[in-house]
Amino acid sequence: MPEQPLTRVIEFDPEDEYRPEPEPEAAPPTWMDGSLRIGIHTSIAGGYTNALDSAHKLGCNALQIFSASPRMWAGGPSRIPEVDAVAFHARRQKLGLGPLVIHANYLINLAAQQPMLRTRSIQAFHDELVRGIALGAEFVVVHPGACGECKPDQAVRLAIDSVKQASKNLPATSLRILLENTAGMGTALGARLEELGEMLSALQGLEVGACLDTAHLFAAGYDIRSETGLASTLELIDRAIGLERVPVFHVNDSKIPLGGRVDRHEHIGKGKIGAEAFRRFLTHPRLSAIAPEGLPGRAFLAETPIDDPGDDRRNVAALWEFAGLKDQAPEAEKGFSMLTAAAKKKVAQQVKSQRKTSQAASRKMPASVAPADRLPRSSRSGGRFLQPSKKSPAKPKKRRRG
Ligand SMILES: [Zn+2]
Ligand SMILES: [Zn+2]
Repeated sequence: MPEQPLTRVIEFDPEDEYRPEPEPEAAPPTWMDGSLRIGIHTSIAGGYTNALDSAHKLGCNALQIFSASPRMWAGGPSRIPEVDAVAFHARRQKLGLGPLVIHANYLINLAAQQPMLRTRSIQAFHDELVRGIALGAEFVVVHPGACGECKPDQAVRLAIDSVKQASKNLPATSLRILLENTAGMGTALGARLEELGEMLSALQGLEVGACLDTAHLFAAGYDIRSETGLASTLELIDRAIGLERVPVFHVNDSKIPLGGRVDRHEHIGKGKIGAEAFRRFLTHPRLSAIAPEGLPGRAFLAETPIDDPGDDRRNVAALWEFAGLKDQAPEAEKGFSMLTAAAKKKVAQQVKSQRKTSQAASRKMPASVAPADRLPRSSRSGGRFLQPSKKSPAKPKKRRRG
């Protein structure tokens, strides 16, 4: 073998140029490790990090929050102060919670025909996205809206256009918008899976997907209660949307029978859908968090009522149990609930006094108007929402809907 000269480089080879180490490819977040993610909607009363602590104490490894009061246009700051965002990131990291899902304000109507309401909705949704990015959320869930008078296809166009406008001028982000299916109350868009799919297709190019709610599916007429019903619904989801585009499910039982088109959530396994159906749902291979059949990081989040202290903890436990993962569930703090007995009592007293006031008022009003219709929305929900803490910047009254 002829000897190779050690130095025979005459010309400069651009390949020899010093280059820094290539950027390592971002490792997927730990919550995408194939484990099932289970959580519940938690309250930001008293500060954003409280929601993380509550989720942790309730035995969750994922969570959903509001980033401001869900029933007010100006429900707190439109931007998150840097110091809060930093504390939130650190705490979330420490507790290993993910994904983080933000549910958008209920007043937002992306399909509103009335220009003022639509402009306001687009602005409010844009602010949701900005806050979502600041908090490092993976997903922002929004309802597609309701058209009122106009034709459904026109409403669909309005909703699509609103999402596009709200998504303009955002900082670089991995945040994804998820359109949620609805129960189909009134003229609400998104009760039909095909319609939701149509909207998603029109939004191609944006980071969008779907969040499907079991109670809404059922109320909209998809019989996920039976084995064959679940199979055909999953097939339809896959065809109309693509299961890989559904990283989040809202897991709620329904107070409303099949096809009732009203949105009323019930405790997991205690409603019209029932325990057996949830067991089947949460163990279905296509809904798992393991590729290729499932989707890594897939989350199942409850938005169930808290009628009594501990209902939140029990619903999370039910999800782990029905998923067959009771032994892998993070340990919940014994006795912890977002609704304390004292708060429940306070709410009950408020409802009572509001009722008295309204009854007194109703004596002076025509009998044709039912007193309940004149009560403020929140007071009709009994103990199902939480009292905001005095420290809270926002007032997250929790009526579990959405
Ligand atoms: Zn929902
Ligand atoms: Zn709902």
